[in-house]
Amino acid sequence: MEKRFTPAAKTKEELKALQLEGLKWTVKLAYKGSPFYRKRLDEAGIKPSHIRSLNDLSKLPFTTAKDLQEGYPFPLLSVPFEKVVRIHASSGTTGKRKVLCYTQKDIDEWAHFFARCYEMAELNREDRVQIAVGYGVWTAGVGFQLGCERFGAMAIPVGPGNVDMQCQFLIDMQTTVMCCTASMGLLMAEEVHRRGISDQINLKKMIFGSERSSDAMRAKIKEMLGLEHLFDIPGMTELYGPGTGLDCVYHTGIHYWADYYILEILDPETLKPVPAGETGEMVVTTLRKEAAPLIRYRTRDLTRLISGKCPCGSILPRHDRLLGRSDDMIIFRAVNIYPGQIDHVLSGIEGIGSEYQIILDRKEDGKDYMTVKVERAEGVEKERERELSRKIGDEIKKQILVSANVEMVEYGALPRSERKSKRVFDNREF
Ligand code: ZN
Repeated sequence: MEKRFTPAAKTKEELKALQLEGLKWTVKLAYKGSPFYRKRLDEAGIKPSHIRSLNDLSKLPFTTAKDLQEGYPFPLLSVPFEKVVRIHASSGTTGKRKVLCYTQKDIDEWAHFFARCYEMAELNREDRVQIAVGYGVWTAGVGFQLGCERFGAMAIPVGPGNVDMQCQFLIDMQTTVMCCTASMGLLMAEEVHRRGISDQINLKKMIFGSERSSDAMRAKIKEMLGLEHLFDIPGMTELYGPGTGLDCVYHTGIHYWADYYILEILDPETLKPVPAGETGEMVVTTLRKEAAPLIRYRTRDLTRLISGKCPCGSILPRHDRLLGRSDDMIIFRAVNIYPGQIDHVLSGIEGIGSEYQIILDRKEDGKDYMTVKVERAEGVEKERERELSRKIGDEIKKQILVSANVEMVEYGALPRSERKSKRVFDNREF
């Protein structure tokens, strides 16, 4: 099928030229239109004319979530109100909520690059896309829907939860693609299984947004539903919403839309680039965003860049799935641990389920202790618990260099949620 949503740039050089043009445009727009950015740039001694190459990006000051909160309710606004056609907000209490403005150009471009996600996932216009994420002030529902309509497939806007209706629509509408969180994906897989409706549905692909998911969890969902592909879609309200990248059908990492934003991977402590391929914080600078452009926005999300060429031939660069948030980092006996590392260890072990919890306690001896609760996989006998827990403990020790008590529980014992599952319980008092 003819590709309609690929970048205007055909080579890496053209992509860089496009980025430089976008960077110059963004700094100029922000300097001219936003008192916040003008002040920030003046303090850093930067004028728009100082941006002459992509290397000049490193001279620009950072923007943080705190800047968004302080600018509430219309932070970073860089155009007159008459050009604003919509707002979206992230979850959080008033004042902590991030509100972002959009112009019509922003909305159109978001729909365009979201359509690219469906194109990259190799959907066609016959596909029926059940959208089971939140609608309302959130970016999720409307983002998935606009992208789907722009692409030309059929959107089925069910929204989150409502498992009965989800199952009914999978049968009645013969949905081929479902968009939801990974937790919801697992819940659906288990429901379809429990209700015995596998042979009445036509689901082929799932697209997961807004949550990290372990390899084990994904493998389980894929197997239970007999899916061809599972895709990961990253996104945050600050950067339009979901749809800012997707792993292609080769699943070698997430291609991200480098014609819409520049991604830097920086050490969260030093704010210098990490060595190639190492994990660091994602820092984004938008290239076309009008109402609320981002200049070196610290996302707090952790990932790493993936080098080399993808078999799909796309020139769009790749980053790994999200490893967690720099805020979620656990400091345990002087070792920095990201929950994603535990995911990674567990996903390499056969015989266990995808759900887990990390519990941290401080005991009378003043030392910290970590307990990792893990479910046995479905159908695995209780007799194997001792062997499995020893294996998990050994792997955690080997890969993360810490000791953990491993507690096995039966399949289905840990809570499932339609939204993000809470996995870290830190009971230590500081
Ligand atoms: Zn690819």
